Amino acid sequence: MRVEFLGTAGYHPSETRHTTGVFVPDAAPDDAFLLDGGSGTFRLIGRDLPARLNVFMSHAHLDHTFGLTFLYNIAAMQRIMRERDLEIIFHGDAKTCDAVCGSLFNPLVFPLPFQWQWHEIEAAKPFEVAGVRVNTALLPHPGGSLGYRFDWENRSLGFVTDTSGTADYFSLIEGVDTLIHERNFPNEFAELALQSGHCTSRDLVGAGRASGARQIAAMHFNPITLTDPLQEDDVYAQLPDVIAAVDGLTLEI
Ligand SMILES: [Zn+2]
Ligand SMILES: [Zn+2]
Repeated sequence: MRVEFLGTAGYHPSETRHTTGVFVPDAAPDDAFLLDGGSGTFRLIGRDLPARLNVFMSHAHLDHTFGLTFLYNIAAMQRIMRERDLEIIFHGDAKTCDAVCGSLFNPLVFPLPFQWQWHEIEAAKPFEVAGVRVNTALLPHPGGSLGYRFDWENRSLGFVTDTSGTADYFSLIEGVDTLIHERNFPNEFAELALQSGHCTSRDLVGAGRASGARQIAAMHFNPITLTDPLQEDDVYAQLPDVIAAVDGLTLEI
């Protein structure tokens, strides 16, 4: 099984990074998973997708939702190229549903309505999708955000984005095989990180060590950083299993 990084920036796209989205094409025989729908979601247009696309939402901030408006073209290309309909099911909490359905897909903002199913979830109440166990934790972030943990029979994946690096969610990610975790700022911006509800290098190292994950991919980078963001603060020396995700990266999990 693999995960693909559709977008690895926070806030806004850059020449090399689109905003946040992670794709799990073969999460189950008939189901693909999309974790957040930032601008990188356009990379799914024309892809051969299974019968169902499950979209798991961390929260409604634009860098995680703007690309949801591209679902119309993603579904249209399935019909044209594969001659089949794509079933799309959203999973997220009630306030994210309100913001996405009521504000993003509002005719004043986007011309077509939200027309898919929304499975409303509550933080810390586990559920199952296509045989995959899913659990969540509420993360400290302006407006709140959900961290996810996915457990298959023989592997597990944590997805934590848009959060201050507190220990509140460490129990969710403890023991995951692969952890995808945000790191928006270098340590020198610790105050801004706390204010905006984001992680510094120090926070990433803390969460990575707490998880014990054998593979850690950092993402949601500040898009104005043009070099490898993890060279800042010497993160590689402190967290040897970490990689800095780039758009288009595929990881076996
Ligand atoms: Zn974000
Ligand atoms: Zn956010």
